[in-house]
Amino acid sequence: GRKFFVGGNWKCNGTTDQVDKIVKILNEGQVPSPDVVEVVVSPPYVFLPVVKSQLRPEFQVAAQNCWVKKGGAFTGEVSAEMLVNLGVPWVILGHSERRSLLGESNEFVGDKVAYALSQGLKVIACVGETLEQRESGSTMDVVAAQAKAIAERIKDWTNVVVAYEPVWAIGTGKVATPVQAQEVHSCLRKWLATNVSAEVAESTRIIYGGSVTGANCKELAAQPDVDGFLVGGASLKPEFIDIINSAT
Ligand code: 13P
Repeated sequence: GRKFFVGGNWKCNGTTDQVDKIVKILNEGQVPSPDVVEVVVSPPYVFLPVVKSQLRPEFQVAAQNCWVKKGGAFTGEVSAEMLVNLGVPWVILGHSERRSLLGESNEFVGDKVAYALSQGLKVIACVGETLEQRESGSTMDVVAAQAKAIAERIKDWTNVVVAYEPVWAIGTGKVATPVQAQEVHSCLRKWLATNVSAEVAESTRIIYGGSVTGANCKELAAQPDVDGFLVGGASLKPEFIDIINSAT
């Protein structure tokens, strides 16, 4: 089976005091064993070392992005090698905020995923359609094109988690219904079966993100193709513990 995966994407939030508070909530939370649920929190780069050192060992950390190739003269960027050097196991790539606000194309995201994997990082690769794309009926075309740009560049999916995050659900309070989430997750899994392999389709975690809360997570987690969550706003609050527990 696919191990349930819960990621907390803190985005560009937090002061040192707030980080201390969130770490305390996580360290004191009652959660299932890491054999049952994999928990990965993603603070901004500057807080990664302190969060990694203070968090209980069964929780892992992720960066929210990294540079597309080997480090060097790329002012303001952080390389995959640096994350590996710090012992950061995971990176989120292709988040919709980076695609839309920073102009990251499908190809650029695909290149980033391939490079990060080549350096030994594990990747949470994000895909998802805008409201306009959903309303025009092109959800699966959009998501498949995003997945294709990754599939063309990598062979081994062992260290990839796919996060389906419909843009219209991110930070809006408009969570996808369990039926809507299941529909896209199941189509994505079929896409993987057809375009990569049956094994990869069966084993790759597809997690949902977009306005997940302690109140709506149980019903979503019960869907057969929802293998976990990527949580934004609620990952900064005590209810993140409830979300970690939603599969059990
Ligand atoms: P919200 O949970 O705040 O909607 O954000 C989702 C997200 O973008 C996680 O990466």
